[in-house]
Amino acid sequence: MSLIVQKFGGSSVADAESIKRVAKRIVETRKAGNDVVVAVSAMGDTTDELIDLAHEVTPIPDAREMDMLLTTGERISMALLAMAIKSMGHDARSYTGSQAGMITDDRHGSARIVDVTPGRVREALDEGAIAIVAGFQGFNRTSKDITTLGRGGSDTTAVALAAALGADVCEIYTDVDGVFTADPRVVPQARKLERLTSEEMLELAAAGAKVLYIRAVEYARRHGVTLHVRSSFNNNEGTLVLPAEHDQEGDRVEEPIITGVAGDLNEAKVTVVGVPDVPGKAAEIFTIVAKTGANIDMIVQNVSAAATGLTDISFTLPKAEGEKVMTALTVEKEAAGFESLQYDDQIGKLAVVGAGMRTSAGVSAQLFTALSEAGINIEMISTSEIRISVVTRADQLQHAMRIVHTAFGLDADEVAVVHGGTGR
Ligand code: ASP
Ligand code: MG
Repeated sequence: MSLIVQKFGGSSVADAESIKRVAKRIVETRKAGNDVVVAVSAMGDTTDELIDLAHEVTPIPDAREMDMLLTTGERISMALLAMAIKSMGHDARSYTGSQAGMITDDRHGSARIVDVTPGRVREALDEGAIAIVAGFQGFNRTSKDITTLGRGGSDTTAVALAAALGADVCEIYTDVDGVFTADPRVVPQARKLERLTSEEMLELAAAGAKVLYIRAVEYARRHGVTLHVRSSFNNNEGTLVLPAEHDQEGDRVEEPIITGVAGDLNEAKVTVVGVPDVPGKAAEIFTIVAKTGANIDMIVQNVSAAATGLTDISFTLPKAEGEKVMTALTVEKEAAGFESLQYDDQIGKLAVVGAGMRTSAGVSAQLFTALSEAGINIEMISTSEIRISVVTRADQLQHAMRIVHTAFGLDADEVAVVHGGTGR
């Protein structure tokens, strides 16, 4: 008998019909002899609608009340799902995040899980019931208030439950067939991956792949949870995301040199021009940036001009954080002693990811050659052990992704079937 955690995203429970379909799927898993725990998202676009509603009432909704409001979305879907399962003759019980023991810190809107005490979920399973847990929400012990985990937080709920209960697998049901070598809407020849490591998934997600949330993958990697990303609209096997380089049978996971290609149009580039090339200047500039809380990514410093002893430093960051960082730097311009600032939001970031990169040479050369043959200029480069990222012009990004996908031999023979899913 296995213990399976299943997570259903908003698109899988968008209306009553979908809820009944999902209930059937859960019951089938139970009938096959498994213990089943379900984490569920709010129906369809409920969360967005609730956010809009709050903003109609006030421009800056109170954070505590916002969490009270948003957690109602998941309460609706969990109760409906439990009812549907019961009507099919199986025992099911729904639990809010706090009832299920999702203990978090007190950061409303972006709380972190600090402990999981799923006593009631365990009890329900022991009594033969299916446990349905509201995703995306938790409880802070000190404030005794309800919290939310941030957008897409239901993935994290599912993984945290799987870890705490020692589940055999955490199935993430969504409206796409799995994790692809690239976004099939951009690269029609993209292929569904059978498996990849959670480390690769993390790099792909950080580089713009949207099928799984970074925090959930990070949690799975740290706690050794195997994820199975699959469609709730068919019975196809999806993609396994393995926490280690070995699968359950102890076989070494085959490592293609490149597992996937990701693209991101949500970043901008800031260039600090004319920075004195002396010790401490980079520290000063990035301390100013850090104080804004912005999450910066690539950093490039040029060689300083011999005549002036001045250099330029460029970095990328999410567009949404561009304004506050530019403002903070402008205010400190005189004190920090640089000449000027440039802001460029017409950039695209392309990344190739693959654990096999560790053990093979020439991957960068192959990437840069492919881009140059297509006449695509590279503006910035950064690497990790298993990723190479480059910045291009925004309007060249999608073309670049297709070129690179082909160059690394990732193209499928047929065009991928895209169900028009959002990956949620
Ligand atoms: N309902 C929340 C959201 O839309 C959480 C989730 O779907 O995972 O962000
Ligand atoms: Mg949602």
